[in-house]
Amino acid sequence: MAAELTPQRVGAIRRRLLDWYDAHQQPFPWRTSQDPWAALVAAVCAQQTQMPRVLELWERWMAAFPTPADAARASDAEALRVWGRGGYPKRALYLRRAAEVCLTRYGGAVPDSETELLELAGVGPFTAAIVLAFGFGIDSAAVDTNVVRLFGRLVLGDLQPARESSAGEIQRIAERLMPRGEALRWNPAVMDFGSAVCKPRPRCGECPLARLCQARPRFAAGERAEPVRAQARFEGSQRQLRGMLMRMLREGDDSADRAGLIERGTGESGRPGREVETALEGLIQDQLAHCVGGRIWLGASEC
Ligand code: SF4
Repeated sequence: MAAELTPQRVGAIRRRLLDWYDAHQQPFPWRTSQDPWAALVAAVCAQQTQMPRVLELWERWMAAFPTPADAARASDAEALRVWGRGGYPKRALYLRRAAEVCLTRYGGAVPDSETELLELAGVGPFTAAIVLAFGFGIDSAAVDTNVVRLFGRLVLGDLQPARESSAGEIQRIAERLMPRGEALRWNPAVMDFGSAVCKPRPRCGECPLARLCQARPRFAAGERAEPVRAQARFEGSQRQLRGMLMRMLREGDDSADRAGLIERGTGESGRPGREVETALEGLIQDQLAHCVGGRIWLGASEC
């Protein structure tokens, strides 16, 4: 059953979460620099990626492209090489294209309105909220999977909110709970708390919100949160083949002979040539590579 968010309850939740954050905060550079480009890069890096890898990826990208103008002037191939083994490489192309728009439409700056941010490649509501909060200090509630889990349990009493709670309701709760003028502390507080304490298997025994939590009695009675979905196997997957081909292209010279690439991929992966060819076609369709005169190049065709 949902809890009523009275001013008293809201105040108690805010205090406890901010106190927890003050004791556990992780000083990632994009959280404190108030640099909208740094925030945008961090939010894109964080999509489908665990936090320890986000920092490494973010540092590599920001060292190569410290401003939108730097990324806008790079080629797809350069962006993909910098992205390296960061996974889901389309994000490198999205960032580069977003940077081009920042340069051509906003004089090299990242825009400070949600509407304009949502028009940039690869930017959804979560990324836009992160840029507004960390880049501009604007009150904006960023809702990722950790926040959905935390607020769905805390306020609605759902055990597995990603499956049970309404996205619109979670967004309304996130906006109601966020203390005005505290976006810079509040957003990382709720994201980190969801990740560290209100985990898929929650650590209710050490949770400072336990007395306020609608899901706590259900967990205490022995109910369990079933996993939303099992992680798809990477070994033997199409994703693995694509990653291998991307690595070969990144590590090669400017281009690779198509037939030679397929032959090498078949030899290294031990998978049938037609599977390797299908993976390569997928990369071309996704504009991560293109073919000219029987040679494969990184990135989308320039023409
Ligand atoms: S009491 Fe348990 S379920 Fe509720 S917020 Fe804390 S960790 Fe999450």
